[in-house]
Amino acid sequence: MKGIGEECGVAAIYMKNFGKENSKEVPKNLVEMLSSLQHRGQASAGICVYRFPDDIEGKRLKTHKDVGLVSEVFRFNHPQERENIFRNHKGIAGIGHVRYSTSGLRDSSTLEDEAQPFLRRHERRWKRFGIGFNGHIANYEELINNLPDDYDFETKTDTELLLQLIVLGLNEFSQENNSKGIVKPNLFDVSKRVMKQLDGAYALTSIFGDGNLLIVRDSKGLRPMVWGENNKFYAVASESVALKQVLGMSNIREVDPGSALLINQDGCEIKQLLKPRPTLCQFELVYFLKSISSHSGKSVREIRKNLGLKLAEREPLKHLLNDKEWLVVPAPQTAIPASEAYTACLKLPLGFEIEKNETLRGFINESSRRKEIMERIYMVHEGVKGKKIILIDDSLVRAETSKILIEGLRESGASEVHVRFTEPPIKHPCFYGIDFPTREELGVYGCGETHEDIERGIAEKIRADSVGFQRIDDLVDAIGIPEDKLCLACLTGKYPTKAGQRLSLEA
Ligand code: SF4
Repeated sequence: MKGIGEECGVAAIYMKNFGKENSKEVPKNLVEMLSSLQHRGQASAGICVYRFPDDIEGKRLKTHKDVGLVSEVFRFNHPQERENIFRNHKGIAGIGHVRYSTSGLRDSSTLEDEAQPFLRRHERRWKRFGIGFNGHIANYEELINNLPDDYDFETKTDTELLLQLIVLGLNEFSQENNSKGIVKPNLFDVSKRVMKQLDGAYALTSIFGDGNLLIVRDSKGLRPMVWGENNKFYAVASESVALKQVLGMSNIREVDPGSALLINQDGCEIKQLLKPRPTLCQFELVYFLKSISSHSGKSVREIRKNLGLKLAEREPLKHLLNDKEWLVVPAPQTAIPASEAYTACLKLPLGFEIEKNETLRGFINESSRRKEIMERIYMVHEGVKGKKIILIDDSLVRAETSKILIEGLRESGASEVHVRFTEPPIKHPCFYGIDFPTREELGVYGCGETHEDIERGIAEKIRADSVGFQRIDDLVDAIGIPEDKLCLACLTGKYPTKAGQRLSLEA
C-alpha cells in the first residue's frame, strides 16, 4: 500500500546555556530533523526560529517555508543558498514542520498558504507565536461555528483554527487577570483552555516571541510525539528517529498524552493538563512510523516482525510451500521486517524484487494521475520469472497500488501471485489525521462482511491468486498494547471520541 497521503511531522529544538548568542546549529538541526521525518509529509516544509537579541529587522520570530521536499525548500543542491538560509535563521530555539494536507480541507487554499509553521504577529512579544501541528481536529466545524463572526480565516486548515483558539486563550487569560496585575499569560493555563475544547488528534509545537517553547499532545496520544535532551539541546519530534539519529539522544521519552512541555531558559517544565486516556493509532505502528523509531517504549521494527510471524502462523498455503518455486517479495519499504520474520518462520526465500523509485513522490493528490505515477514508482525485477510469489504488503486502502504491483509481477513472469497484508482490512475512514478516502472509495467496500468474504472479494478485485489479511486480535497481540489502549476505529468503526462517532454516522 502506498496510495494514501501521509500526515505531518513536527520538530522543535531549544538550545541550553545559549549565552544570548544565536546559533546556526538551531536551523541546521531542525532541518536535519525534518529530513528524517520526510516520510510523514512531502507537500511542504518549514521552520520558525526565535532569535535573541533582535536582529536589524527587529524580528524575534523568523520563518522560512515553502512547498516541496525538505531538500528543495532548504536548497540542499545549492550549498551557498542553504548556508544563507541557515545564517539568516540563526537562533536560540525553533520549530519545524513537514506537511501533507489532511482530507477535505485542501481545496480551499493553496499549498503555499497551508505550509507551516503558521505565524501570528502581534506588537507584544509574548502574544507573537509560530505553530506547527500534526493531527486532525474532529470537531473543527463546531469550533469554527462557535468563534466570533469577525474572525477572517485565510485557510481552512485546523492549524489556523488552533492558532485562533490560542489567541482567544491568551486574550481571555489577560483580561481575567489584569485586575490582579498579571498581564503575561500562564501558557499551561492557556493550553488547558484550548485543549478542553478540542476533540481529535493533535501534536502541537509553538514558539513564542518571548522565547517560550510550548509543546502539547492530545489526551489520547493519537499522534506520536517524543522529547529528549543532551548537554546542548532540548528537542521534540514526531518520531524518535529525529532525536536519535540527528542529535544522538538516547534517553528519549514520550510526551505523555494530555500533557504540555514548557521549555525556556529555566529548563523544561512538564504538566499533565488533561487526564491521559491513551488510545494509540495502530496504523502509525503498522505503516507510518519509520522502522527504526520506537513508540510507547516499543520498537516499531519488532512490532512489524511480530506482524509477519502472525501471518506465517496462519498461512493457509503452509502445506504447499515445500517446492523451490516459491519466493516471498516485500512491497517496499514498511513490509520488510514482517517479510523477514515470515520467511524465517516458514523457511522460504526472500527476494527484494520490487524496487521503489525514491526520486518520484509516493503521494499524489489528483486521483486521475495516481495510477500513472504509481506505475512509474514501482519497478519489478526479473528474479520473479517462473516463481510463485507471496507478496507481503502492509495494508490495502484503495487497492490501486496492489493491483499495479500484481500486474507488474505477472508481466515479469510470476506464475502465481498471493498477497498477505500485515494490517487487517481497513473498512472505515479516519477522522484523526490519516488521509483515508471515504468508505465507498476504500478497496474493501462492497466485498462483503466476513473476513473470508473480504479476502475473496479483494483477491478478485486486485487479480491475486489468493489474499490474506491480518486478524484484528493478532494485530493487537503483535503490537503488545492492550486493545482498549489502541485506536482501531478504521478497522472496527468504533471511534474513541464523540466527534469521531458523530462524523462516522454522518459519513
Ligand atoms: Fe489510526 Fe485508524 Fe484510529 Fe485513524 S482511525 S487514528 S488511522 S487507528
